[in-house]
Amino acid sequence: MTSYSVAVVGALGSGKSALTVKYITRRFIMEYDPTLEDVYSKTESVEGHDLTVNLMDTYHPHMVSTTTSNSSSEDYLRWAGAIIVVYSITSRSSFAVAKSYLELISQFARESSRPDIPVALVGNKVDLERYRTVSRHAGQELAAEYDCHFYETSAAEDYGSVEVVFHELIKDIARLTDQNVVIQPLYISEPATQTTVSNSNGNSHAPLKRTKSPKSADYFRVSSKKDEAKVLPRRQVSTFKLFNKSFKIFN
Ligand code: GDP
Ligand code: MG
Repeated sequence: MTSYSVAVVGALGSGKSALTVKYITRRFIMEYDPTLEDVYSKTESVEGHDLTVNLMDTYHPHMVSTTTSNSSSEDYLRWAGAIIVVYSITSRSSFAVAKSYLELISQFARESSRPDIPVALVGNKVDLERYRTVSRHAGQELAAEYDCHFYETSAAEDYGSVEVVFHELIKDIARLTDQNVVIQPLYISEPATQTTVSNSNGNSHAPLKRTKSPKSADYFRVSSKKDEAKVLPRRQVSTFKLFNKSFKIFN
């Protein structure tokens, strides 16, 4: 089964964990461990295709600006097939952090072999409209500036507004994968490289690099070693004992 990897980044408290858990379980977790960082998996059907989605819920306590570039906390960039950048519509500072993430991601995209990495900017907590401090227009403008998707969601309300974000990114990754196979048939005849890529990312999407430069070879080899060491074991939905014990689950 094809698998897709999506990382969720954003300021502390913006709702990364709540959105991740909402997508995985369709439930809203109200109390949480803010330092939680883990990879979850969900198998589902998108437009008739059965697939596995691997989701990395991140925790970067020191992410305040692009000056953190090259820190080990950016392994998500190498791991992810697509990235969700979350802010809270009730927090200007989380919006500023989101901008920093978008800048970091676009810098990574320019410098790496993945110029088209799909990104969605997500303004979360729309159920708290009365506390809104970031306008929808400001979100749309920022998304336009970085040429990425834009959504407003609530992890506390309907599942559909959350699901659509993940599904759009999955479709984007699928489109890029297909495109790569069609445009770059040469890649198929390089089994050693392709196997490395597949293992390193834990998914089957091919890299977007059109040529096999030494840089791309290094990139994926390094990524392979790092990911094995850094990425935590996947936790299936059925093993949410942690949450059953210490979280209130709604819905
Ligand atoms: P993280 O640090 O980005 O992972 O943020 P969390 O997912 O842990 O959420 C931080 C706080 O915001 C928690 O108390 C959540 O219950 C709350 N929260 C998250 N998403 C929403 C939302 O969409 N609406 C409301 N009202 N609260 C939310
Ligand atoms: Mg969290």
